[in-house]
Amino acid sequence: MRIGFIGLGIMGKPMCLNLLKAGFSVTVWNRTKSKTNDLVKNGASLAISPRQVAEKSEIIITIVKDSADVEEVILGRDGVFEGGKAGDIVIDMSTISPFITQRIAAKLLEKGIEMLDAPVSGGDSGAIAGTLSIMVGGKAETLARCLSVFNVLGKTITHVGSIGMGQSVKLCNQILVSVTNMAVCEAVTFCQASGIDPQIMIQATQNGAAGSWQLINLGPKMVRRDFYPGFMIDLQQKDLRLATESAQALNLKLPALSLVKELFANCVENGEGKEGSQALIKALERINGSSTLSSKKFSLTF
Ligand code: NAP
Repeated sequence: MRIGFIGLGIMGKPMCLNLLKAGFSVTVWNRTKSKTNDLVKNGASLAISPRQVAEKSEIIITIVKDSADVEEVILGRDGVFEGGKAGDIVIDMSTISPFITQRIAAKLLEKGIEMLDAPVSGGDSGAIAGTLSIMVGGKAETLARCLSVFNVLGKTITHVGSIGMGQSVKLCNQILVSVTNMAVCEAVTFCQASGIDPQIMIQATQNGAAGSWQLINLGPKMVRRDFYPGFMIDLQQKDLRLATESAQALNLKLPALSLVKELFANCVENGEGKEGSQALIKALERINGSSTLSSKKFSLTF
């Protein structure tokens, strides 16, 4: 099975390396060509455009950034659509809009090209280890044809429904992680103000009903003031924007989502967009006047 791979960023590069290690024949393209070097050293063929990737492949994986970027590499000039053939499968693994996903899929179908949306969770460590959680939308038979590929990239592969629904489940994932992150920020701040070592609070609560990935992984980083990114605030904000747009389209009000999005926006305003999502605690500190940073104040508008 010939695989095409477009987008060799933090996530795409290790995913593509895993496919090469598993013995797949892979053709790669990346906007910044230098990022293809390591892949070519590991046996990948280099294409000059997404179109050429599609010409040389039966399954084409994209993992770029936002909705417009996926549209550009698939439907743009010299894009996948131009090089694709009936029977090919496009798998988009970026996190983008469910509605734009459906639009891209409908266009691809005009040429007999199937599409799956298969966004991932698990971060760069999951991409490196091949243990991602993959939420797949699209036809079950199309997923079945791609299972050997998904099994290399992830540990939990869930067929969640028709095209676009993978993205909707990924947005649920983003609501869960960001609102839980906000709860951890509040607990750590409350704990510090109470004169208790927050590490002791984390230890005492993590195995009970309050335990979560955010408490265990992000809580200690907040306490250590380690704001190095695992998952950048800029990307988190993109996903919360997508979740908000989808909620509006569904005529839903989600107050916790609105609030955490506002808090993250304050971090971005204060130049913290490239920091990890645990830096959310700084917005809370600004509300409470306890930040040592010179900063734009936060006032709740929600
Ligand atoms: P990244 O490191 O910033 O990489 C983005 C990739 O997309 C790069 O290869 C970039 O090319 C390419 N790209 C962006 N816009 C493009 C365009 N208009 N045309 C062509 N190529 C374009 O991002 P990442 O962390 O790998 O994330 C990729 C996707 O996975 C995002 O949708 C993100 O939300 C999702 N995701 C990320 C994580 C995570 O922990 N990082 C976890 C789960 C899901 P250049 O090299 O030229 O910039």
